[in-house]
Amino acid sequence: MFKRINDSLGHQAGDELLIEVGKRIKHCLRSIDTVARMGGDEFAVLIDDFTTPQQVIQIIRDIRNEIRKPVNISSREVVISSSIGIVFKTASDVHPEHIIRDADISMYKAKEQGVNKFKVFNKTMHEKALQSLLIETEIRQGIPEREFFPYFQPVYSIQNRNLAGFEALVRWNHPERGFLTPDQIIPVAEETGLIVELDRVILFEACKFMASWLKCYPNIEDLFLTANLSPSQLSKPDLAEAIQTIVHETGISPTNLKLEITESAIMERNAASSLNLKKIGEMGIRLAVDDFGTGYSSLAQLQRFPASTVKIDRSFVSRMAADHESLEIVRAVNALGHSLSMDVIAEGVETRQQLILLKDIGCDYVQGYYFDKPQTKDDAKQLVQMRSDGFCPPGLTTI
Ligand code: C2E
Ligand code: CA
Ligand code: CA
Repeated sequence: MFKRINDSLGHQAGDELLIEVGKRIKHCLRSIDTVARMGGDEFAVLIDDFTTPQQVIQIIRDIRNEIRKPVNISSREVVISSSIGIVFKTASDVHPEHIIRDADISMYKAKEQGVNKFKVFNKTMHEKALQSLLIETEIRQGIPEREFFPYFQPVYSIQNRNLAGFEALVRWNHPERGFLTPDQIIPVAEETGLIVELDRVILFEACKFMASWLKCYPNIEDLFLTANLSPSQLSKPDLAEAIQTIVHETGISPTNLKLEITESAIMERNAASSLNLKKIGEMGIRLAVDDFGTGYSSLAQLQRFPASTVKIDRSFVSRMAADHESLEIVRAVNALGHSLSMDVIAEGVETRQQLILLKDIGCDYVQGYYFDKPQTKDDAKQLVQMRSDGFCPPGLTTI
């Protein structure tokens, strides 16, 4: 907000705003407390000599409430918000800079939770911040060292009773900690923006293997590869160009490629991401809506989104046999997808009972541990060879 005011109303207005915020904070403090501006739009407050933490929290609440009252700047009324991090000094905190650092960490935590929030620092926050800094450094080093690669989870067609494609899922061969899965990679990569590069590495590698399998077994043309596209990737101005280059360099046909975008990312679309999606579509690459059912998107949004596939989230599939509501949701999403001319993939199929229910509902594709876990490129290639030889996977032959 501060930056926006600076950019739209000028620096003079920005200065006026800072002075006003400083005054409001001071107004909430006692004469023994201190307020200082740390830089940019950040202030630090030192609250001295209090008897209970509640006393501090009350002061913080007052500050927050004062700040969110409208401000008159350059004869315009603007409303601003705050994010506040709180550190209670302990006997072991001897360095003022550590206290400021910890306040900063908790302020960012508060920011993550939305506007006008405050958050009290705890030790785990510091440990987590350190841990994520370490992982960030390791991801940066690991990318050029080729420590990241895709695993492939097969997707089967219920109708054809055969292998239809693979989803590429990132794995990390960490030099010390061994084999790591996305839950240990993606959150930090998202937070630091490294996900953009990581997604492109995985897309490149996965396309390269898929292209080689299709070349090896020319009797299969319709095999698809799906790869995950992180939400932060979507509005990058060079996204479409980067994908074009990957397609060109790996030799995969765009018609064999699908990109998965989560339902929640679709809702946060802006002009830049819509343009990217349009360009991706024009290249002949298809789009899939991932984790459908978890993101509260409206029917209108789904209808406007140029996807060819919808993936029903695992949470509904896993409950569908025991819980009537989940079964009805799966049925409804399947019908919705079909009515929008999309094909439907059910994720996380773990039992034969789920498979039979999905077949009865009319779902097109299934993916899950009942068939296979994500696997190495060599195992995936063997499955392609089996399909090329006309072999049907056992889980599907008997339904
Ligand atoms: P996702 O896109 O929903 O991928 C499916 C996840 O469900 C995979 O977890 C897969 O191993 C797991 N799964 C598949 N079938 C079953 C099943 O029957 N039961 C259970 N319990 N789980 C099943 P994984 O590989 O750990 O990936 C987790 C998430 O990380 C993915 O969820 C995706 O959101 C993200 N991810 C993975 N690779 C990438 C990537 O290269 N880029 C980005 N942006 N995200 C990725
Ligand atoms: Ca996915
Ligand atoms: Ca999914």
